[in-house]
Amino acid sequence: MGLLETGGAQITSRAEEADVIVVNTCSFIDTAKQESVNTILEMAQHKSSGRAKKLVVAGCLVERYRNEIQKNIPEVDAVVGTGELEDILRAAGIESRSSEPAASASPFVILNTPAGSPSLKSGIPARVARPEGDAREAMGRFSRDQWDGAIADLPNYLYDEHTPRLLATPRASAYIKIAEGCDHPCGFCIIPQLRGKFRSRRFESVVAEAERLAARGVREVTLIGQDTTCYGEDLDLKDGLALLLDRLARIEELRWVRFLYAYPNRITGRLLETIAANQKICSYIDVPLQHASAAVLKRMKRGAGADIFLRSIERMRRTIPNLTLRTSFIVGFPGETEQDFSELCAFVKAAQFDWLGVFGYSDEEGSAAFLLEEKVPRRQIEARRRKLMQIQRQISKKNKRRLIGREYDVLILGPSEETDLLWEGRTEMHAPEIDGKLFINDFGTNRELTPAKFYRCKITETHDYDLVAKII
Ligand code: SF4
Repeated sequence: MGLLETGGAQITSRAEEADVIVVNTCSFIDTAKQESVNTILEMAQHKSSGRAKKLVVAGCLVERYRNEIQKNIPEVDAVVGTGELEDILRAAGIESRSSEPAASASPFVILNTPAGSPSLKSGIPARVARPEGDAREAMGRFSRDQWDGAIADLPNYLYDEHTPRLLATPRASAYIKIAEGCDHPCGFCIIPQLRGKFRSRRFESVVAEAERLAARGVREVTLIGQDTTCYGEDLDLKDGLALLLDRLARIEELRWVRFLYAYPNRITGRLLETIAANQKICSYIDVPLQHASAAVLKRMKRGAGADIFLRSIERMRRTIPNLTLRTSFIVGFPGETEQDFSELCAFVKAAQFDWLGVFGYSDEEGSAAFLLEEKVPRRQIEARRRKLMQIQRQISKKNKRRLIGREYDVLILGPSEETDLLWEGRTEMHAPEIDGKLFINDFGTNRELTPAKFYRCKITETHDYDLVAKII
């Protein structure tokens, strides 16, 4: 969006106003692909019966189905892969780049993001790859041979602090991508083929971007990447994420710094101590564990198991008082038995996560698991997904009750989307967009609340996942 705006486009979120429509897509599992395709088809109607003259498809679906998209949806004028984002200007029909908005040719553009947040880049080549990435490449981890129409070149660059950005998030919050790509071998996952080998942004580039965002009014930054805990390994940085968090927390205007998507065996003592020692770093860890049965984790090519995870969780909670812990699991991985699933249920009961998501296994061509036999029937996958969520619902309900009477800083988001009678906010327990909600039903002595500002609140009521609070 920043590149488009710098090129002279005016951005709109109303498709019916747009001369050019850009659909930014996701394709890592079936439901994401379906949502992406549905959105493209919906937007294509604006070309046949409305104002739009161009339809551009960007993102991961392009990496996977480059040729088929244009062949099967003739309304699509151009595609832009995850490594070709500067081509968005040509694709949108904006030929020249300028720091001033163009006087003529100001197409309206809508960006639609079915999953994830928009990512932008400049053409900076990746830095030296890690030996781990090279070894995995030699083993074929990044091969796209099985995908008709995918180009052989992997995406291989990163945006930097000079890349223009237009924030799509509420004013006080921003995501910062600190690394791109992934070298892990997880058997169910095609993200490495879609996003390329792991590479970190320069330390100074991330700091410069965070400082600029803070100067523009951002108070919370959320660091993202396919694997944030590997940050800096390709820059010869030891404990790179801990160093980066510590540095960002010293930016005066920032109030909260958090990161998402930790890889379990990369959570170091130094990282935990850094979180514990610094008030501005949210006491929040999102560590997708994917399963707890050692047999399933081995077939997933991830390793470890329930005992190791429980010890690790115990260490996290011991080091960081009041830690909020989020995870996600995949149920129905090929060969998952009733016994494996029972182990997972027992583990979830023992671990008592604050937030938990469950995905049904999605069989993706090009993943190692696609070639495995003993596929679990879809109905059984769904039944297991529902059962695990039911277990978590009880855990969440019970543990949320303990929060009644506690006080937290809350970042006000605005009136609730569900009812005009309530407002919504987030505490450090709530990462943007993913965790349960915090409703505010009592403004205390304030006549009104200001969105994007921090207040102090007290929890007065709890539900299965959501909280109700009053401003104090
Ligand atoms: S660490 Fe995450 S992105 Fe990387 S291969 Fe595993 S599941 Fe995919």
